[in-house]
Amino acid sequence: GVGVAVLDFAHGSPLASVFLIAVAIAVAAVPEGLPAVVTITMAVGVRRMAKRKAVVRRMSMVESLGSVTVVCTDKTGTLTLGDMTAVAFWTPDGVAWPDAGTEIAVSGAGYRPEGEFLVNGVPTPASDLPALHRSLVAGSMANRANLAHTRSDEWRAHGDPTEAALLVAARKGSIDRAELLHTMPEIAELPFSSQRMVMATFHRSSTGAIHAFVKGAPDRVLARCTTAAAQTGDRILSAVARSAVLRSNEALAARGLRVLALAEGQPHGTDEANLQNLCFLGLVGMFDPPAPGVAETIHSLRTAGIRTIMLTGDQRLTANVIAHALGVAAEGSEALDGAEIDALSDTALAGRLETASAFSRVSPEAKLRLVTALQMRGEIVAMLGDGVNDAPALARADIGVAMGGRGTDVAKEAAGVVLADDRFSTVAVAVEEGRVIYSNIRRFVFYLLSCNLAEVLVLFAAAIAGLASPLLPLQILWLNLLTDTFPALALAMEPSSPGVMTRPPQNPHAPLLSRRLVLTSGGYALLIAAATFAALLWGLSETGGDRIQVVRHAGTLAFMTLALAQVTQLVNARNLPGDVGTRRINWYVAAAAGVAVALQLATVYVPPLARVLAVTPVDLTDIAVITALALAPLYGGYIFRFAAAKWPRSDSYAE
Ligand code: ADP
Ligand code: MG
Repeated sequence: GVGVAVLDFAHGSPLASVFLIAVAIAVAAVPEGLPAVVTITMAVGVRRMAKRKAVVRRMSMVESLGSVTVVCTDKTGTLTLGDMTAVAFWTPDGVAWPDAGTEIAVSGAGYRPEGEFLVNGVPTPASDLPALHRSLVAGSMANRANLAHTRSDEWRAHGDPTEAALLVAARKGSIDRAELLHTMPEIAELPFSSQRMVMATFHRSSTGAIHAFVKGAPDRVLARCTTAAAQTGDRILSAVARSAVLRSNEALAARGLRVLALAEGQPHGTDEANLQNLCFLGLVGMFDPPAPGVAETIHSLRTAGIRTIMLTGDQRLTANVIAHALGVAAEGSEALDGAEIDALSDTALAGRLETASAFSRVSPEAKLRLVTALQMRGEIVAMLGDGVNDAPALARADIGVAMGGRGTDVAKEAAGVVLADDRFSTVAVAVEEGRVIYSNIRRFVFYLLSCNLAEVLVLFAAAIAGLASPLLPLQILWLNLLTDTFPALALAMEPSSPGVMTRPPQNPHAPLLSRRLVLTSGGYALLIAAATFAALLWGLSETGGDRIQVVRHAGTLAFMTLALAQVTQLVNARNLPGDVGTRRINWYVAAAAGVAVALQLATVYVPPLARVLAVTPVDLTDIAVITALALAPLYGGYIFRFAAAKWPRSDSYAE
């Protein structure tokens, strides 16, 4: 602005008009609408995400969403349905014990408490299987869940699905929790925690003694047992018997089942330390089917250059089965176990994360370490979780994602994005929209940069050539108004295109204004400025008539060309260099272009406006020249894209 002012002043323009031009250039050059448009773009994107069930709690999260490289997710209830059904029991009794226990299959599905117990395919009442009966009692007593029978004859579970499944199994064996509690009122509880992996309730028996019912991860429960239920009384749990239990646990886990052990005892007190010398009652295997669409989502995330990592509290074999079934981990690869994670140093862990995609027996601390190790590798981590324990990892991750329905308030509070529908596939939606928002911000930055630069170039070139400023201050402001508003906003509405999820994540360290984007903007600015200057020179070449009138007319031609060329430039902003182009018609852009063209024509054909902006009438030849020149960005676009196709750059987007 100062440069143009000085040059103009040197050429003899009056100080007042020089000052006006300088101010107008400053206004034109500074994209003062940028912060507003960035915010609006984000807001529009966030609303679009909310419609698609991904609720963004902090707008700044949107930026990271587009660059996510790893999605860490828990298994139960996220990758799987979280609807547990106890499908198999195993009890340490029978004639061949300890070489073999009794395997009991359970029929029925879901939370409907209708089904039978089958031993070798033969339906057997639970009352004929003492160890099973005791297991069912323990499972329904050490339990906080509830079953509800709705009027439409549906069965719903309230509380932990794992516990609900045990209630259902108990009902199949005609065991009712409420009845049992009548004779054995509960006096204390040891709540389940992911660290302890054990849950117990303490009851007062009719004799006044304390009776404990215990359930939890098999190895943890077994460590507290000294005896095992047999058909006649309890037996000492020998080393051979222990290994028989662990073998059966593995057999159940290898089927992809979540395994819990059940036990009972007569402790002296109601705290954790007293849960010793228990009697082992049996194992239960629960089936939790993979959620529909999850395998597809994991696949499409991979196509988008995003790795999915599964973290589960379940044991390794169970984790392996699900990880392979869903395509999280490559066939043949093994899940890394919590104990192994704890033994690894941070750097060693980061190294293992190169290939490891499934993790079993993961504690909340290990989750936090995993997220940190991934970040050490330069990954941008989205972390899905729902429990209170997940909060530290959710807060630590670049984007914490909480489940809206199932998630705890603590998890939601720590998260940046909440999935209203609790579906894993919504994560992919959020990433996609994040990428779209980022692209759209780049689109109009590119647009504003090329258009504003073109205006400055025209004025500067005219000043150097010693021509009177072709654009009047008011015209400059008008141009600014025309391009910085509707067209820029319309670019914010650019929808997602199929290509968005087929390219790799953007490099989070790459600047928004990459060198390439700046250079291309500069190229287009030169082109638009040249076209405008051509219109100006063509107008000035007219001989005869009033010279002042000729200059004003040439200025009008330049003004019109510059304005309409900026509308044409919208096409290039949609097909951003190095980005996936959109093929669909964006009606917002079409409407904005229409409005801009109409307003620009109004400056000629609406007399009061023409008078204010000092615009002269144009004839048909003028219109033909203006149109041909204003389409310059279109020709330029073809050439740029042709060149880009001829000399492709592998890192085009990241750069
Ligand atoms: P996740 O939810 O990631 O699958 P959890 O930490 O909830 O893992 O569970 C870890 C292990 O603890 C399970 O494999 C199971 O053996 C046991 N477990 C899970 N829920 C309960 C519960 N309500 N009571 C007792 N033990 C449980
Ligand atoms: Mg759990």
